[in-house]
Amino acid sequence: MRKETQRINRGTKGLEEELRLVHMLSKRRERVRIKRVDHIGIVVKNIYEALSLYDKLFEFVTLVRIDILYEQGVKVAIIPIGELEVELLEPVDPETGVAKFLEKRGEGLHHIAFEVDDANEGLKSVGEKGAKLIDRESWQGLRGRTGFIHPASTKGVLIELIQRA
Ligand code: ZN
Repeated sequence: MRKETQRINRGTKGLEEELRLVHMLSKRRERVRIKRVDHIGIVVKNIYEALSLYDKLFEFVTLVRIDILYEQGVKVAIIPIGELEVELLEPVDPETGVAKFLEKRGEGLHHIAFEVDDANEGLKSVGEKGAKLIDRESWQGLRGRTGFIHPASTKGVLIELIQRA
């Protein structure tokens, strides 16, 4: 029993530090409120081949739409899974970022999208805190206003902020 108490006491200082950190983080959160993870982007060589593979493995493909975003040079397939979506991206223009990503790193996880109330405000806020932005201003995507934060500023993960229309 005594041993147990000592262990708790020793842990208290660490706990205080943690609570301070949580408090600090929650105060900062006032500026960009992440509502939820909106979708996960996966880059593939061929959307149809990827869809048929995922359907074979997981039987979850209730396909909503396939679109081509000419400005971004990608073909996009959106697969809803519960509250989330998986977004498959196939480059159709070799000069775009997605094509270069595929060439350099191969198929795989490309980005995570967080839903926010205001994409421009979100980008501005993280930019002011020193993050490198791919998009200073949001642009109109398939689902709403959207913009990207450079993975060099986010522990190697490309992060999209999306404001649902
Ligand atoms: Zn996305």
